[in-house]
Amino acid sequence: MTPSRRTFIGKLSVLAAAAVIPNLGWAIGKKKKKKKAAAAAAGGGAMSVVDVNNKKDSNVATLLALNYVANVKEAIANKDVTVAEKGGVKPEAQGCKNCVLGVKDGDNYKCQLVPAAKFYVHADGWCTSWNPKS
Ligand code: SF4
Repeated sequence: MTPSRRTFIGKLSVLAAAAVIPNLGWAIGKKKKKKKAAAAAAGGGAMSVVDVNNKKDSNVATLLALNYVANVKEAIANKDVTVAEKGGVKPEAQGCKNCVLGVKDGDNYKCQLVPAAKFYVHADGWCTSWNPKS
């Protein structure tokens, strides 16, 4: 093989590799996405009750900005919140379970303030946006 022929074949190999490698990356990325979707379908993305300590979650931050508490009775007793009677409902009786924005989903409640959230609020949870169901 002449040197120019060898050089030409060498360059051809580099070009072929350059064309294949990005496609390989795309295929690997596609596999990862498929794995994620499968995990979510298998319950990997399952909902859980909001963890008020997870302040990195923007949905939790939204609720905490509204003084969300997981248990309104305890929070009133501990003087963590001051709750007024509203719509004829006593403070201790207020909660996500009877809030106009609380939507029952099986045994749990979702809050319409965080509709895209992957978690439920507590049945006895409460925040300053509480309003009675009519
Ligand atoms: S009290 Fe109502 S608005 Fe507040 S977190 Fe519970 S369901 Fe949402």
